[in-house]
Amino acid sequence: METLSLFDDTDLARVLAVVAHPDDMEYGGAAAVACWTARGVEVAYAVVTSGEAGIDSLAPERAKPLREREQREACARVGVTDLCFLGFPDGTVEYSLQLRRAIAAQVRRFRPDTVVTGGFRETWPGGVLNQADHVAVGRAVVDAVRDAGNRWVFPDLVGEGLEPWNGVQTVLAFGSPLSAHAVDVTEGFAAGVASLEAHAEYLAGLGDSAPVPAEMLGEMLGTTGRAVGVAHAVAVEVLRP
Ligand SMILES: [Zn+2]
Repeated sequence: METLSLFDDTDLARVLAVVAHPDDMEYGGAAAVACWTARGVEVAYAVVTSGEAGIDSLAPERAKPLREREQREACARVGVTDLCFLGFPDGTVEYSLQLRRAIAAQVRRFRPDTVVTGGFRETWPGGVLNQADHVAVGRAVVDAVRDAGNRWVFPDLVGEGLEPWNGVQTVLAFGSPLSAHAVDVTEGFAAGVASLEAHAEYLAGLGDSAPVPAEMLGEMLGTTGRAVGVAHAVAVEVLRP
């Protein structure tokens, strides 16, 4: 952690977040989003699944609308109203051309300068194994950013009015074990906690293993913040397409 440097986010104007599940942005990413929207950055979320397999006691057809509703509230708490769900199956997302196409379409639609996603390496920092959907989605995000700029990849998208977009300058992966940078989220910390708290029924469904948002994020973002000399920060792997 001592080798982290602060990521310069002053030039961001349009940010598209693409993650696997409702709540994936809420472990630090949303705190960064709160900082950005507060200063006028446009942010949209595309969530690949609806997290319908995430509550053990609730069948997917009932969990889906609940989790979409909680994500909408989580977004509202960090200043985001542009939210869509891409409808892939929770828990069994595969890296596929179909997934790349769906994400490339979102990149062309929103025309971001920055795309953010969750950590997609095999492990989280500390060695805890990552989850299959996160790995598949993050890999697809990196590739879809390139696809979005090429007229001849998924050429039918042009027919849908989605012209190529080559404007993505940076991809940020939150919580990657390869993180060399951190985003200062001090100003957005409280809203970031509130956005995780918006997933109330999901967190309740985790039972005793559920994190207490203020404590968990305080510890995690506080530790990263100390490494870069601010109160709270989130670690990011910075990729240049
Ligand atoms: Zn997830």
